[in-house]
Amino acid sequence: MTAKILDGKRVRDEILSELKPRIESLPRRPGLAVVLVGADPASAIYVRGKVKASESLNIYSEKITPADDISTAELLGIVEGLNQRPEIDGILVQMPLPKHIDSRRVLVSIHPSKDVDGFHPYNTGNLVAGIVGPQPCTPAGIMQLLRRYEIPIAGKHAVVIGRSDIVGKPMAMLLLHENATVTICHSKTADLAEECRRADILVAAIGRKWLVTADFIKPGATVIDVGMNRLADGKVTGDVDPKAMQTVAGAYTPVPGGVGPLTIAMLMANTVSAAERHACSA
Ligand code: NAD
Repeated sequence: MTAKILDGKRVRDEILSELKPRIESLPRRPGLAVVLVGADPASAIYVRGKVKASESLNIYSEKITPADDISTAELLGIVEGLNQRPEIDGILVQMPLPKHIDSRRVLVSIHPSKDVDGFHPYNTGNLVAGIVGPQPCTPAGIMQLLRRYEIPIAGKHAVVIGRSDIVGKPMAMLLLHENATVTICHSKTADLAEECRRADILVAAIGRKWLVTADFIKPGATVIDVGMNRLADGKVTGDVDPKAMQTVAGAYTPVPGGVGPLTIAMLMANTVSAAERHACSA
């Protein structure tokens, strides 16, 4: 049997259309500031996508593009200026930053109420404690996808490959909050294939082309492929062998068209939620 495709574009469109009435009922347009340091082409593409999505929703967006020789102190000054501006609800500093910049200090300098990426330790704490607040966009989008496709989570065994702060760890926490039994795997996991074969829900967030092969997948499992690995011809492919997903899994996210579109949708959702919170506290 061929596996069901979990269509990230469809879910993105649903999420965005649900945001429109919320935006219309706000006293002013939500505002998102995106800081893009330097001229990394991949980062520029991501930022363009975020600005485009904002415009399509009538979210005010502002792109700030300092040169890549900006100092940490100067960048902190830019963030502090944005923290002070009432019409800016969300601040996003596109990662990765040039090596000489102290990325952690920059992320921590964003006011937690404007942290639409959900990377600030304050919001990480809220995530762990199960308190409402901005959540990292990629795992939050995956939860939306699982819910909207009615994939059962409670009591299921979920295996997350990858333990990054932006995908793997928050993904595991969100699945745990939905009562999955969660295993986190990483580069030092002894027998990765064996761990993965026990998964009803397998999330691959590694960054290695097709590391996950058919023998990692329990027949009928739901496979979420977060990986975005750029090929020599410029195309993007995932961490999971597509043929393995099609033939062994029960349902899966394709690359492209799976997880990627959800990330931007959740950034928009986090921006709207931030604007709603700011409107309430104004
Ligand atoms: P990362 O490099 O920070 O983390 C990768 C993780 O994979 C690490 O925790 C590491 O332990 C694990 N790993 C590496 N090699 C491994 C191996 N051989 N076996 C088992 N585990 C291994 O990456 P990240 O930021 O979490 O991103 C992961 C992937 O997801 C990348 O391809 C990235 O481009 C992609 N990504 C996609 C989106 C999206 O919107 N689709 C968003 C964020 C990240």
